[in-house]
Amino acid sequence: MLIPTIPTTDELLDKGFRRAKKAAGLVRTSKIPRYKKSKRIEETRVITAGQVIKDRIKLILDRVPDIESLPEFYQDYIDVAVGVDPMKQALGGLNWSMGIITQLEKDYASRIRRSPPEKAAQLRKQAFGRVSSVVNKIGDDLNFLDFAKQKLRNMPTVDFDATTVVIAGFPNVGKSTLLRKLTTAEPKVADYPFTTKGIQIGHLERKWKKIQIIDTPGLLDRPIKDMNNIELRAMVALEHLADVILFIFDASESCGYPLESQFNLLKEVEKVFKTPVICLFNKMDLTDNIKYLEQYINKVENPLMISASQGTGVSEIIERLEEFGER
Ligand code: GDP
Repeated sequence: MLIPTIPTTDELLDKGFRRAKKAAGLVRTSKIPRYKKSKRIEETRVITAGQVIKDRIKLILDRVPDIESLPEFYQDYIDVAVGVDPMKQALGGLNWSMGIITQLEKDYASRIRRSPPEKAAQLRKQAFGRVSSVVNKIGDDLNFLDFAKQKLRNMPTVDFDATTVVIAGFPNVGKSTLLRKLTTAEPKVADYPFTTKGIQIGHLERKWKKIQIIDTPGLLDRPIKDMNNIELRAMVALEHLADVILFIFDASESCGYPLESQFNLLKEVEKVFKTPVICLFNKMDLTDNIKYLEQYINKVENPLMISASQGTGVSEIIERLEEFGER
C-alpha cells in the first residue's frame, strides 16, 4: 500500500464543483443582505472548489512516502518497476497544481469581491474554467500515479530487521523445496519487476532472531551474461537486501544442468554479489558418483550436503544461517 487511490481529473473536478455548490446553498439560505449575497455565493463557490480539489491532491501527496527516504531496495524496486524520475515528476505536477489553484482562488475571490454583483457569476465561471484547465494539465500525472499504484500493489513486504537469505541456483535444483523445508508457513508470493514468476518470501524465527528467505524464480537461476539491463538492476536491488546467499547445486544433475555449468553460475553470482555465499549440494539421496562430485565439492568452501525433499541437512543450514545477521 504505497500509493492511495488516485482520482481521475473528472472525479476531482466533479467533487470540487459539487461541494462548491453545496457550500453556496448554505450561503443562499443565510441572512446576508441581498446585495452582498450573490457575490458571497460566487466567492464561496470559487474558494470551496479550490479547497476541496487541493485537499484531495494533498491527501495523495501526504500518503505517498518520500522515495528518497525509503530503503534502497524499495527505491530500486520502484525505479525498475515504474521509474523514480517519472514518479517524482508526477508528484511534482500535483504539487505545482496546488500552488496555481491557491493563486487562482485568491485572485478570483478578490475580483468577485470588487466586482458589481451582476458580474460575479461570470467571474466564478471563468475561475472554474481555469481551475479545470489546471486539473486537466495534471491528468497525465494522475494517470501515471494510478498506473504506478497498480504496478506497486503487490510489492514484497521485506522485514529490514531480519537476516535476509537469498536462494540461488539453476531451475529444478530444489530451491523452492528447500524454502518450504526451512520455513514454517507457506511462503508469500509477491511481484518482482521483470521476472514473471515473482518472488517468494518465507520466514523463520529462531529464539530472538528473525530470518527471511527469498527465492527469486527466473532471476538467480541462469547465466548472468544472458541478462538484460533491467534484470541486472533487479539483481542489484537484491544485493542491497541479501545478508547471505544460499547457492544450491543439484549434485545428482537431475535438474538437467551439468555440475560444471552450475559451478560457473556460482562464480557469476559471486561476482555480482559481495555477499557471503553458503554452498549446498542438494539431492544427495540421488547421488552415487561421489568421485565425480568431489571435484566440485573441493572447489567450494565449507559446503553442506543435503536432501531438501527428505529434510536431511536442513538443521545444519539453519545453524549456519544463525551465524549471520549479528549486525
Ligand atoms: P527449483 O526450481 O529450484 O525451485 O526446484 P524445486 O524445488 O521445484 O525442485 C525440482 C524437483 O526436484 C522437484 O521435483 C523436487 O521434488 C525435486 N527435489 C528437490 N529436492 C530434492 C532432493 O533433495 N531429493 C530428490 N530426490 N528430489 C528433490
